[in-house]
Amino acid sequence: MTYTADDIRNALNKHELVAYYQPQYDSINGQMKSAEALVRWKKADGTIISPFFFIPVAEGSDLIMDIDWYIAELACRTLVKQNLMPQFPISVNFSRRHIQEANFAEKLANLLDQYDLPHVLLVVEITESAMIGNEESLLDWIVSIRNAGFKVAIDDFGSGLSSLQFVKDIPADVLKIDKSLLSHNCEDEKERIVLESIFTFAHRLNMKTVAEGVETKEQLGFLRSCDCTRIQGYLYARPMPEEDYLKLCYEHKAVEEATDILQAQSPAGTMSLLINAIFRRYPLVIFTNLTRNSFYMMAYENFTTTSCPSTGVFDELIVHGASSMHPEDREIFATTFNRERLIKEYKSGTETIRLITRQLGDDGVYRRVETVDYFVKSNYSDDVLAITLCENLPDETEKIDAIEEDIRQIDTLNVDAVMSVIKKHLSAGN
Ligand code: C2E
Ligand code: CA
Ligand code: CA
Repeated sequence: MTYTADDIRNALNKHELVAYYQPQYDSINGQMKSAEALVRWKKADGTIISPFFFIPVAEGSDLIMDIDWYIAELACRTLVKQNLMPQFPISVNFSRRHIQEANFAEKLANLLDQYDLPHVLLVVEITESAMIGNEESLLDWIVSIRNAGFKVAIDDFGSGLSSLQFVKDIPADVLKIDKSLLSHNCEDEKERIVLESIFTFAHRLNMKTVAEGVETKEQLGFLRSCDCTRIQGYLYARPMPEEDYLKLCYEHKAVEEATDILQAQSPAGTMSLLINAIFRRYPLVIFTNLTRNSFYMMAYENFTTTSCPSTGVFDELIVHGASSMHPEDREIFATTFNRERLIKEYKSGTETIRLITRQLGDDGVYRRVETVDYFVKSNYSDDVLAITLCENLPDETEKIDAIEEDIRQIDTLNVDAVMSVIKKHLSAGN
């Protein structure tokens, strides 16, 4: 069945176009968190027409813009009906034509204000294919929407000629992974590698992720292991009429029995918890390939000096590091962490190398820093690798002053008397 633009316009005017809602779920605990509004044509006789049969026609003209605004308004009305129950954000699809629409963000803001709704409750979905060839105006468009307090999702990522390069420059909040990237069981090794990289990439750019078209438990299991934020698909729920959706919101039940969050944690999620814990103690972590003379540095805020590139040549890092040390410590630092020496140490069975130096902070003050190198074995090659953990040591001046004062109180100085003062201070732990 094909419809003309006039048929569709007619349906719109007669309010035969309605919004269905498909819930989106937290991938870890199965709780409903948000939904997507999807248009349906509900004919007078009750038959439901899929957007597949009329959206492509509507997209041929500005008719699609009227449909999108209409669905956005229906979504607002649904949100208003949720006033007395948990309100979940709703994403609305906007065709690429809106990128050229004057004052789009202002219009959307007015719509939500009219219904007295916070702007975070509406998410703007724009399909990835809209981005090709439109880069400049798309960027301004997205920035204006976000400045007005709305979130932006990139739809159908992976369905067309996706460009990671381009997504990196788009300040979107959410990346929706297209169902075409998920095979039935996610059993293909290469497919898994591609998906894992996409999720890591999105999360490192601080984007949330939604997997679309999730139909099987196997897919869900794999998506959890990627730390995918939200799940949308038939496994949990199909798109449904407003009435049913409101019922779900009211009940607000998790799909599965809530499990202990740590048991359900994905490997990627636990990894980031672990890294946070490590950073609490070691604000600087460096991964080095000693054989290839390269490093990658992860630095946390509050580390004494941050004026260093995060990747590069290891030998240069050591020169740079030495130059930030107290003049008396430079030589020992440079010789201790000399690359050839480290490789020799590793080959002779040494497991760790440890050194305390005084390092100049960005604030012009020297602080004691402990640097520890742990040699590790690569899973993939014979290269010699090291992980370096750097820790700011507490300022010992006050402790030493207190010890000195006590020593000066001793009438007859002898080793035993001095030692007992030192032991007293050490056991007091101050
Ligand atoms: P979309 O935005 O990618 O929406 C997701 C589509 O995937 C929906 O199809 C949904 O019903 C379907 N889907 C969800 N879960 C599953 C699953 O587990 N398995 C499978 N096989 N499919 C699943 P729907 O509702 O037929 O919409 C088709 C497309 O029509 C949408 O794709 C969107 O591009 C467009 N569309 C729908 N409503 C609007 C609208 O209001 N405005 C605009 N511009 N486009 C719309
Ligand atoms: Ca969509
Ligand atoms: Ca989609």
